[in-house]
Amino acid sequence: MEVVGRFAPSPTGRMHAGNVFAALVAWLVAKAQGGRMVLRIEDLDAQRSKREYVDAVQRDFERLGLTWDEGPFFQHDREEAYRAAFDALAARGLVYPCFCTRADLHAASAPHRGEKPVYPGTCRGLSDEERARRVAAGRTPAQRLAVPDRDVALQDLVQGSYRQNLARECGDFLVRRSDGAFAYQLAVVVDDAEQGVNSVVRGVDLLCSTPQQMHLQDLLGLPHPVYTHVPLVVAERGRRLSKRDHDAALDALLERFKTPEGVIGHIAGITGLAASCDPATPEELLQDFDLAALPTTFPDLVQVRWE
Ligand code: GLU
Repeated sequence: MEVVGRFAPSPTGRMHAGNVFAALVAWLVAKAQGGRMVLRIEDLDAQRSKREYVDAVQRDFERLGLTWDEGPFFQHDREEAYRAAFDALAARGLVYPCFCTRADLHAASAPHRGEKPVYPGTCRGLSDEERARRVAAGRTPAQRLAVPDRDVALQDLVQGSYRQNLARECGDFLVRRSDGAFAYQLAVVVDDAEQGVNSVVRGVDLLCSTPQQMHLQDLLGLPHPVYTHVPLVVAERGRRLSKRDHDAALDALLERFKTPEGVIGHIAGITGLAASCDPATPEELLQDFDLAALPTTFPDLVQVRWE
């Protein structure tokens, strides 16, 4: 089967070194197997997504030699598909309204955290009357998926075996926000399946979301992609790089390393993807890239110091 990977940037800022690293590995993993790449712009969160970044992120990929073969696909065009999946879950009684406030603020964006708060199930047992009373009082609920007491296990290409109990370690999670937007977890599963993505490469901060996504795939009858969660590139003292961190933002990187090859080569060198930090194109790195060596390539499976 042909390998299909994806770049799935959220257009909420310019790329930083960590985004470049994850995208580079995604590209290498697909291309090393003769596969192709899909570009999907994850602009589900209308408040945080900005038009200027939609263009900028595509230029960034092009400049770096991180080519894609299909797309860009936009999540804002995919409402119907998300609705169909949501309706299928709701028709099976797997979804319930949640009136907890502020709970769903960021459900449309990917939750980049190591751990997640476990929803205690506050609204799961509300009676129909109570639900109707709250709606009549003007409250618009979010919608949660009721999860079973089930262990979901996976074999990650970098992180090895990973297992999570949905009830204890995750809890019922949001599939739709109270403003009507579908949540990241649902959208990403529907999109990966429809776009034929069978290789997901991303930062290790999303590893804890993977069992949720696999559970949704099972419920919706969709295949599981192969998962590869790469280390995060962190600033001093383990601080996360963020898109607001100008020191590792792409423009600053291009200034410091002079060329796109300089940026790619440096990131490949510090992460252990290449033996040196010499300038290189993704194509050049492909020649020595060994998928089988991937789990042991990185000096640390969880974080790499940016310097
Ligand atoms: N759009 C997410 C981000 O930019 C990535 C989600 C994913 O890879 O599943 O962080």
